[in-house]
This record gives sequence, structure tokens and C-alpha cells, in this order.
Amino acid sequence: MPITERLYYSDSHLIEFDARVVDLSDRVSGWTAVVLDRTAFYPTGGGQPSDTGTLNGARVVECIDDGDNGVLHVVQGAAPLRDAVVHGRVDWSRRLDHMQQHTGQHILSQAFINLYNAPTRSFRVLEASCEIDVDLGNPTTEIIERAVELANNVVWEDRAITIRNVTSSEAAELPLRKEPSRDGDLRVIEIEGFDLTPCGGTHAYRTGEVGMIAVRTWERAKGLTRLEFVAGTRALADYRRANKSAREVAALFSTGRDDGPQYAAQMVEEHKELNRRIRVLEEVAAEVEAEKLFASAQDGVVLHVFADRDADSLKKLAHALIANPQTIALLGSRDKDTARLVFARSADASGDMSMLMREACALLEGRGGGRPDMAQGGGKNVEKLDSALTHALTLLARAS
Ligand SMILES: [Zn+2]
Repeated sequence: MPITERLYYSDSHLIEFDARVVDLSDRVSGWTAVVLDRTAFYPTGGGQPSDTGTLNGARVVECIDDGDNGVLHVVQGAAPLRDAVVHGRVDWSRRLDHMQQHTGQHILSQAFINLYNAPTRSFRVLEASCEIDVDLGNPTTEIIERAVELANNVVWEDRAITIRNVTSSEAAELPLRKEPSRDGDLRVIEIEGFDLTPCGGTHAYRTGEVGMIAVRTWERAKGLTRLEFVAGTRALADYRRANKSAREVAALFSTGRDDGPQYAAQMVEEHKELNRRIRVLEEVAAEVEAEKLFASAQDGVVLHVFADRDADSLKKLAHALIANPQTIALLGSRDKDTARLVFARSADASGDMSMLMREACALLEGRGGGRPDMAQGGGKNVEKLDSALTHALTLLARAS
């Protein structure tokens, strides 16, 4: 006779019960683990998280399956005494949610067997959705949605779900969806005319209780197909989130909910085209700007500090400047919190830009480098930008 009689085995909808405390132990968390002679609390197992609830009003935060030692109810706060009779209450909304996900998984897994002979290898209930790994060779959204459709038809046919307790030899005669994970007598969950699976979890009374099953997304993972799905109240919550997102996107374009993607795609295309035109215009502007700056050159050196120019724009300008013969460009910019530098020289000018850049960047507490004719860098000490450029100019004069 096991220590704890598991009431959830025979009735998944029983959420209130009385039981006697048979054992108590302290947890490292400082809370108390209570073992009862009977319980309606489902402990963590089979991919399904445990129930929560109360024992005599004290919070049960988790239940752990300790095998033959019974079910541990981890109680936060005042624990009952040994031999006391306590009243247990399981949080129904959490139980219903878990039953919907778990029963939904039985149905979805069998749908993949029915259509594609693709067995489920693992199952997890996550925070807001669930995952199953299906041995499905060539997944496509269409193939997956066909199984989702079959699963939902089974939900809406509101088929009965019953528990059969069978011996291992009786089980051997049954067309079970998966091999039992243990020997001896088995608890088999039957979805009328659809699925027979050995399982110790909590299930809906009828498939209709699952409400709806929807696959959010899928991917190939370790040779299997990993599906993220939601059932029941999670499907409704997910629909609400998806609907809100879709409506918010559509509102940006002042269009109807379902036209959002088309407008967004159009905008991305326009954005690409605009960027292309900006690049062309930037080059034209850099040439014009370079002409003006070149007029200020002293001994073939153009030295200038800009406000708010990124490295790319500095480089374009440097390129335009060194198109002139015998020219060296020493350009700097205060780009937000960063000092940026670009040094360049025309092919017929002399000087090691890479060396100058390393020296200048040391003053900026940053890094830089490049080739003898073109180098870039920067640093966080923006205040030293002017002196870094002057330093580079001095080194350049010394070398020539
Ligand atoms: Zn199950």
C-alpha cells in the first residue's frame, strides 16, 4: 500500500479533500514538506508542472513526486502537525490550464500518428505555451496545420476520455500510442475511438474541455520537429496577444488588421530604396563638401572636426578629399559619446596614417588602425579630440 493515495488518478476534477498528515520534513528553502495519506494535488512529472493550492489555508507552492515515499506538499507558512486532519484545496484555474495543455498534447500527438505515423518524443508545459518534439521527416506549415485541424475536430467532437486500469498482459494486447515507461499494472487514458496512451497525468473529462489547439510556431531541432502549441485558455490568451499586435501594426498604416503585413512589406521596400538614394546623395554632398574643405588646406593637409558625424560619413568625405593629388585628410567627429577619427592620404602623398591613428587614439583612450594610406579609430575621451588631431599633425610635420 503506497503512503499517499493519489485521488487525482481517479478524478481529475476533484479539488477539495480531507486527509491525514503522515510525515513532515524541513526543506532547504526553510519551508516544510508535508506527506498526506491521500491527495488531490498533482506533483511535477511527465512534462506537467505541479498543482498549487492550500492546506488548511497555508500556501502549497509545489508538489514533488517522491515515489513510494508519497507526494511531498511544500508548504509556505504554518505547517500542520503530524496526524492532524487537514483540508486541501487545489487551485482550479491552474489545474484546468494544465489539463487542457496535457490533454491537448495527447490529441495533437495522436493526430501526427494518424496522418503521418510520426511519434512524439517529448513534451513540456512552458510558462505561456507548450512544446512537443515530433519525429516528423519533412515538416511544412501545411503538413503541420493538417494535423492541427484533425486535432481540433477531435476536440469539437467532444469525445469521452476514460481511464482504464489494466495489467501488463492486457496492456500488451492494446494498440497503445507509446510504450509504457514502467512495468506492472498500467493506467491507460482512452480518448474514445482515437487514442490509447499509458499516462499518470490529469486529463479532461471530455475532449471539448480542451477548447482549441493552435500551433504558434515550429522549427527543426536535433533531427526532430519542435512545435510550440497552446490549448484552451492559453489559446485564447495567445489569440488576444496576436490580435493586439496585428491591430497595433495595422493602426500605424491606418489600415484594417489583416492588411498590416502587406503595408509593412511595402514600407520595407520603400525604406531600402530611400537608403539607396541617400547613399548616392551623400556621395554628391561629400564631393561638394570636399571641394570647400580642400580650399582650406594648408601645405596639402585638411584638418577638420565635425559635430555628430559617424565613421562612414567621415570616410566618404576623406575619400573625396584624397581624390586631389598630394593631399592628406585628418578628420574627426564628436559622434554622441564617442570621438571618431579618419586619416587618409592620396597615393602620391607621404605619411603613415596607421601609425598616426594609433598615436592619436592613445590620447582618446581608444583604439584605431588601418593601412598606411587610410586608417580609422576612436575613443571615449571626446574632450581630447582636438589635441589628438593636433598631435597627429605635429607627428606628420616631424616626419616630412
Ligand atoms: Zn496524459
